[in-house]
Amino acid sequence: MAKCDVYFHHCDIPEGGRGLCGARKCEGGAVTAANYGRITSLALDPIEKKPLRRFVPGSMILSVGSYGCNLRCPFCQNHSISWSAEAMGLEETAEPLAPAELVAAAVRTKPRGNIGLAFTYNEPLIGWEFVRDAAALAHEADLVNVMVTNGTAERHVLETLLPHIDAMNIDLKGFSERYYAKVLGGHLDTVKAFIARAVQKCHVELTTLIVPGENDTEEEMRALTGWVAGLKDEDGRVIGTEIPLHISRFFPRFRMTDRAATEIRSVYRLADVARERLRYVYTGNC
Ligand code: SF4
Repeated sequence: MAKCDVYFHHCDIPEGGRGLCGARKCEGGAVTAANYGRITSLALDPIEKKPLRRFVPGSMILSVGSYGCNLRCPFCQNHSISWSAEAMGLEETAEPLAPAELVAAAVRTKPRGNIGLAFTYNEPLIGWEFVRDAAALAHEADLVNVMVTNGTAERHVLETLLPHIDAMNIDLKGFSERYYAKVLGGHLDTVKAFIARAVQKCHVELTTLIVPGENDTEEEMRALTGWVAGLKDEDGRVIGTEIPLHISRFFPRFRMTDRAATEIRSVYRLADVARERLRYVYTGNC
């Protein structure tokens, strides 16, 4: 039995068992990442697809994913690799790929416009050791590193990764503890602390998926963007109004099929509300 220290659940994992994320296991009395170097997705994508709009625009990035997730979003678009029964069985079938092999693939795709690695598709923080190792090698090869994350990890995980990461897109999925706790299985204050620290060390863009009936009021968007607008750098200067926010449209998927897609006019209305406080607001999936 060992206790995992990656994020707030702090799973007690029995010998040979898995944590709730499906990716961390107890072996020899210690918690390790079972998904280390186990790849489920690899694609050369435009960086705007991550989405990042204000970090090396027009470039491509080699995007890599493994399996497992520490949240339980019922609408997950990547459920086949995040937290479905299928995802939990991927340890046996995911392709093994060492950090050096991944970086070599990234170097080979430089002539096609690739600038580096993006850790994405499933939640990279639950396999942070692979991100650390591959990202360190990528920097040695003059590549950049991007992480697309739900921002749900303890501070020590973030501090370990920050020297290796150049840009992040972090989900700020809503601004109520109820929504995070009851619908997503998450913890809003953890994500807020993660974002507040990350913006001090690397380029950060945020994403909010608007789910009808959950987080789609103007009042909640004002609270969210008001908080973002007040974020500060390490010297105490306010930088939050410059942080890009992506507001995207929900579609019924996976275990949330009880409601229609977000109305496009609702996304645009909330984007206008966000622009009252933030300079760079983008809409997605519209
Ligand atoms: S955090 Fe992302 S990958 Fe994980 S369940 Fe939610 S939408 Fe899916």
